[in-house]
Amino acid sequence: MQHRIITFSKNVFLPLTTVCRNRCGYCCFRTPVGNGCLMAQEEVETTLRHGAAMGCTEALFTFGERPEEEPGFKEYLRPLGYTTILDYCEAMCRKSIEYGVLPHTNAGILTFEEMEHLRSVNASMGLMLETTARIPAHATSKGKEPEVRLAMMEDAGKLKIPFTTGLLLGIGETMADREESLCAIRDIHRRYHHIQECIIQNFCPKPGTPMANQPVPTTDEICKTIRMAREILPRDIAIQIPPNLIDASLLIPCGVEDLGGVSPLTIDYVNPEHPWPAFEELKIIAGEAELRERLCIYPQYIERGWYHPDLQSLINRLAQTVKLRSS
Ligand code: SF4
Repeated sequence: MQHRIITFSKNVFLPLTTVCRNRCGYCCFRTPVGNGCLMAQEEVETTLRHGAAMGCTEALFTFGERPEEEPGFKEYLRPLGYTTILDYCEAMCRKSIEYGVLPHTNAGILTFEEMEHLRSVNASMGLMLETTARIPAHATSKGKEPEVRLAMMEDAGKLKIPFTTGLLLGIGETMADREESLCAIRDIHRRYHHIQECIIQNFCPKPGTPMANQPVPTTDEICKTIRMAREILPRDIAIQIPPNLIDASLLIPCGVEDLGGVSPLTIDYVNPEHPWPAFEELKIIAGEAELRERLCIYPQYIERGWYHPDLQSLINRLAQTVKLRSS
């Protein structure tokens, strides 16, 4: 029998702001501008310090898209000494590097220049494609236009940024839409070879959101999508599922290779009602397969040197650390 390896990354989740210019029909993350809409620097640093002490290697900076477009947001940001959330993000990425944790930023839609700038302080970056279909849930979210998202993924490729993307299932798309989305990811990867993983994530409806009663994708349907992804995507793109949102042990046989970022410290701020499995549970999920820790930059991109030279010593040190922990 073929020896299978299932990977994961040990991370901390840092939602720098919950303010976002978009209005997705399924969102439970976004909040209006107001007290508590920004994560304070002290909290970021405390999380990074504790995360580093617990052996976390990845700082996931995920937050609302272009919050400055929301009236009043800048007044909350200014006292921290920044004019844009991306300036704040860059500064916090630098802190993360100081604490010995590799930053991975998903800030929604970014321009080529913004990504080029953030690349120097990020080992990898990400943007969920979600779907190439035009769906009602995205009707009031300009950042969710498929062309805009595909263009950003293409720019990331031109910049040689190891990249994470994926599909969000159950937001009003069809199986044919999923196939089209996967083909779009494949085509971009064939041009730039930068997509390291594709997340197949099931949407979990939340009370109080416009899509609270949306029917959820069944395990069979998710398995079928994973199999389709494995057929369509090149072998060097890992298929990832979030082990806190679904019984991952049922999906490993469908072709899953990665369990994504799992945190011993922070919650999943997008799905706060779903706790992360503990490390011992991950081993059970992996079953016969070998569970192996990885960094947020996959080994093939470390070998190719697809990172800013300033990150080299930290990447090398942490690569050695996870190797020792997995042996
Ligand atoms: S982009 Fe993300 S944070 Fe913004 S409204 Fe949509 S789901 Fe919510």
